[in-house]
Amino acid sequence: METITSYVGIGANLGDSLQNVKYALDKLKTLPHTQLHSFSSLYKSAPVDAQGDDYINAVARLDTHLAAASLLAELQKIELIFGRERPFINAPRTLDLDLLLYGQSEISTDSLVVPHPRMMNRAFVLLPLLELDPAIHVPGAGVASSYMSMLTDQTIHALTKDNW
Ligand code: AMP
Repeated sequence: METITSYVGIGANLGDSLQNVKYALDKLKTLPHTQLHSFSSLYKSAPVDAQGDDYINAVARLDTHLAAASLLAELQKIELIFGRERPFINAPRTLDLDLLLYGQSEISTDSLVVPHPRMMNRAFVLLPLLELDPAIHVPGAGVASSYMSMLTDQTIHALTKDNW
């Protein structure tokens, strides 16, 4: 199977969030038939439509030979490692991995929607994504950078390597 460039959003706001995101990046390096090509800076953001502490966020670029559904299943295995619990909707979470983009595919099944349906209105996704590819095009939405000006009310800042 051809190599597909895919992007994964990583978020954590429970427990030691910084360590959890770094550990998630290490786990992404071990995915089968997949290479962790690069990852963004780590960002700190206020929760959007959710509660709890600030989030630590990042986006990783994976070059994968896995089918999209298999890649999602692998991401969910990593989430499980972190003993994720969902006691109520939008509950604070130890680790959240979202499949943002899978090449230029548009996918809509019961268990997987790609591009991720809420990615274009979340600065904590777009900022790290644009860091990895400033010209990135999102199927069905267009040029990602043009959405950033609508998200200026969202509090987010990049962590320097000194705070990692
Ligand atoms: P959440 O708890 O918000 O991460 O949502 C997890 C649920 O969303 C799972 O049941 C997934 O099957 C579903 N889902 C649909 N599309 C995606 C996607 N692009 N990335 C991650 N989860 C997805």
